[in-house]
Amino acid sequence: QKPVPSDIVISRSCVPKPIDRLAREVGLLSDEVELYGKTKAKVQLSIVKRLQAQPDGKYVVVTGITPTPLGEGKSTTTIGLVQALGAHMNLNVFACVRQPSQGPTFGIKGGAAGGGYSQVIPMEEFNLHLTGDIHAITAANNLVAAAIDARMFHESTQSDKALYNRLVPLSGGQRKFSPIQINRLRKLGIEKTDPSTLTEEEITRFARLDIDPSSVTWQRVLDTNDRFLRKITIGQSPTEKGYTREAQFDITVASEIMAVLALTSSLEDMRQRMAKMVVATSRSGQPITTEDLGVSGALTVLMKDAIKPNLMQTLEGTPVFVHAGPFANIAHGNSSILADKIALKLVGPEGFVVTEAGFGADIGMEKFFNIKCRYSGLRPHVVVLVATVRALKMHGGGPTVSSVEFSSNLELLEKGCSNMRKQIENAQHFGVPVVVAVNGFKTDTEAELDLVCSMAKAAGAYDAVRCSHWAEGGAGAVALGQAVQRASGAPSNFKFLYDLELPIADKIRIIAQKIYGADDIELLPEAQHKVELYTKQGFGNLPICMAKTHLSLSHEADKKGVPTGFVLPIRDIRASVGAGFLFPLVGTMPTIPGLPTRPCFYDIDLDPETEQVNGLF
Ligand code: ADP
Repeated sequence: QKPVPSDIVISRSCVPKPIDRLAREVGLLSDEVELYGKTKAKVQLSIVKRLQAQPDGKYVVVTGITPTPLGEGKSTTTIGLVQALGAHMNLNVFACVRQPSQGPTFGIKGGAAGGGYSQVIPMEEFNLHLTGDIHAITAANNLVAAAIDARMFHESTQSDKALYNRLVPLSGGQRKFSPIQINRLRKLGIEKTDPSTLTEEEITRFARLDIDPSSVTWQRVLDTNDRFLRKITIGQSPTEKGYTREAQFDITVASEIMAVLALTSSLEDMRQRMAKMVVATSRSGQPITTEDLGVSGALTVLMKDAIKPNLMQTLEGTPVFVHAGPFANIAHGNSSILADKIALKLVGPEGFVVTEAGFGADIGMEKFFNIKCRYSGLRPHVVVLVATVRALKMHGGGPTVSSVEFSSNLELLEKGCSNMRKQIENAQHFGVPVVVAVNGFKTDTEAELDLVCSMAKAAGAYDAVRCSHWAEGGAGAVALGQAVQRASGAPSNFKFLYDLELPIADKIRIIAQKIYGADDIELLPEAQHKVELYTKQGFGNLPICMAKTHLSLSHEADKKGVPTGFVLPIRDIRASVGAGFLFPLVGTMPTIPGLPTRPCFYDIDLDPETEQVNGLF
């Protein structure tokens, strides 16, 4: 077997076709496409209306066994599978994937565009700014953060009347409410549009949000692994008159606005979600929203281009939508609903859309079904579960560092297959057929690969196939493509894991017991308090987005295989009301990674002669 060159060498060896040509090939009209250079384009949402009568294609979600820190090849398999279906089986296809954060690109993990001969190209465009969506989210998120602190400052230094006069200034001798202010009045139960008719009491209620500074849950964000911003004190300049407050930065992809982008279904829906985001609580216990701050319209304006999916291509010229990339623990870790919906129309009834759910099936896939599919109304036809021999051996008790190549060990492997069995069962809870894709590494033996396939079938998988798309491109995933095509015609009986109407604790318990295998959950005092608060505030019917380690089915990252006999501790619960989920925190979750001693950026440079980016992987 000839050695596989590095990802960037492969990526660069292939000349991408002009993106306007690809757009025409997939059936987009020229005025639906906004070109960003020669290899990227945005697709206008008007297409949703044009294609509304077109039947959808088949919908496939790629997930995995419990991963090792290096990843098991879910992205690579997503791309390899569409290359197989599109370039080798001549079907209409689309891959829908997340946009990576720049944090990992310059930090530990490096770029993320698939790998080997199954990649999105050009990988430097994919991994860097793309079309600026993440920057737009940073701008929108930080406008909210600035609005919160500025509002608290102004409220603390002005009387009710002075505040009101500034919020509703005189113009041509008259005061006039903006539409957003009329929305706020309506929320307060004041059905008035003429400022001159407000009573003193109504003026006070309208003007004062009375935010409790200790209740602010909205953080500032940036897309850099800057660990020193995990806890900061803001307001230290004398101009802020001593109004200092402890705050923090999160990575941009952890912003609720990223989750909104991923879950929204139209511009109108995004505008509504931008209004509903809860940023704090008032001293009297009322949730304070972005609409209360008056910023929701401006946020929608900042996000008006980001909402359009980005068209790129694979190494084999098949189309890819790259759109949204929410954090996979405090958010739901799936690419956008809009990209999936548009792609399903574009491929038509015989075509395939393959999307990826981050982390293992217990995390990304569970959220894909219970959150993303609930909001999109889409029903997947097939789950592809990626497994690797090296990770299964680790689950059987082998070394946890996957760079340690250990020799063939069928006993360890067989033991570790318990994790795959559990993740197959997790997919079956939703009633969708599972195809296991065994992503082959060059150190795997025939006997090992065969064992994984037979164990997967014995565990109830619809099929299990070996694939070599990393080394061979789409040609190495044709067997997988055929299995997926067959499975897409198999009977499926989709169902959610829990009803939204159940009490919050019951929903969490169902996920913990059925998906993680926990005996029970334990709500610690802060979580108990939030259950009561959110139920009272009317957020009890939202779906649940668990923030748990992805490295184990349990809450302890070092417990491999299928841990049993544990009680899942729920430390706290937070709400992303605009995105539309509650996220219970199991243990502590870093929301901005740090840089290692030798970050990936050491290798990255630009060749000024050719303008080539070097060292991106
Ligand atoms: P995930 O999506 O599960 O996190 P990726 O698809 O990003 O995983 O793959 C993780 C890394 O492993 C990438 O660098 C990729 O190139 C590499 N990789 C994936 N499959 C193989 C394989 N079969 N052989 C060698 N390297 C692989």
